[in-house]
Amino acid sequence: MTIEEEFAKVYGLEPITSKTVPGRVNLIGEHTDYNGGLVLPTTVAKSVSVAIGEAMDEQFCFTSAKFPDPVRRDVAAVRNGHWSDYPLAAFAWLKEHGYWRRGAEVYIDSDLPHGSGLSSSAALIVSILKAVVALTGPSLSDVEIARAAQDVENRYLGVPCGIMDQMAVALASSDQALMLDTETLAFELIDLPLDYAFVVAHSGIYRRLDEGRYAIRREECEAAASALDVSLLCHLDTDSAMKRIDTLEEPFCKRARHVWTEHCRVAQAAIALKSGDLNAFGQLMTESHASMRDDFEISLPVIDEMVEAAVQMGAAGSRLTGGGFGGCFVSLVKSGHIDAWQKEMSTAFPEITFV
Ligand code: ADP
Ligand code: MG
Repeated sequence: MTIEEEFAKVYGLEPITSKTVPGRVNLIGEHTDYNGGLVLPTTVAKSVSVAIGEAMDEQFCFTSAKFPDPVRRDVAAVRNGHWSDYPLAAFAWLKEHGYWRRGAEVYIDSDLPHGSGLSSSAALIVSILKAVVALTGPSLSDVEIARAAQDVENRYLGVPCGIMDQMAVALASSDQALMLDTETLAFELIDLPLDYAFVVAHSGIYRRLDEGRYAIRREECEAAASALDVSLLCHLDTDSAMKRIDTLEEPFCKRARHVWTEHCRVAQAAIALKSGDLNAFGQLMTESHASMRDDFEISLPVIDEMVEAAVQMGAAGSRLTGGGFGGCFVSLVKSGHIDAWQKEMSTAFPEITFV
């Protein structure tokens, strides 16, 4: 059934707009996006779809295939701790900016796991913004949509995320990676190799950003930047950055070291990708994981084991992806070897699912 048909089945009429937006996987560049650094995400094959109809009154009704009970909400109270806070917050933004007037009926369907580091939140919010903005003028560019979606998470939902997820799902495509400077929003689309694939696997451990650990890392980065007298950690001077970082106390030196080295690794990874040196790219992914494990301390022992096994079983590189503390890891695997590699990984870790 199409998303329009599913909407019609639930609400008894046709939607006025709909949109499908993919999730994203970050290939390298973790926790750099709120430090003014570089990131390199691409989209995944799984996505979120929304279909939207106008309501006769001011009420919002949300139904999700994942959470089947329909829920009615008032836009005056967005933060309820309910899944529907996310789509409601997107409508709160649209109302505030004059793109939507009354209430709405919304149907959501998705094969993208949520809370797993694949950015279902950005995909959901961007799909609603794009679907509605397509109806009305003046229209917004993809970069403006991404900024709006970040505003929805930061200001309406209180999630202190950077801009990577929203830019990735609004702009990237599955055969290219988005090399993004998160400070200037300058970006370049780089073709992905044909003879290798970035295989995404879910560790089986779910996390939620708003458990507070993500916010703590963000605060630690801000404190490190302020101790080093820069507004953002990626503003450090290339020649003196590491020496200055070493003068900080723990945990700030470790957090800053991860952010700075990760930012540098993304630049090197983009060069490796463009020149077709996938072994070098894989090596950088594995170094990125070690940095997240030892310096940023956002991995879990079981994910460390999975990443290590991934490389032992023949991946060119492997790393945790997303905010951390669970969710997915991404591995760079030769195309002809994927089936055998997945089989071996599934035998060693039956709790893994491939995305
Ligand atoms: P992620 O890493 O997937 O972005 P978040 O915790 O940031 O995880 O966002 C997950 C939230 O997005 C869910 O709690 C829910 O509010 C919303 N969401 C994502 N996918 C769906 C869906 N299919 N149906 C309803 N809400 C969804
Ligand atoms: Mg999210």
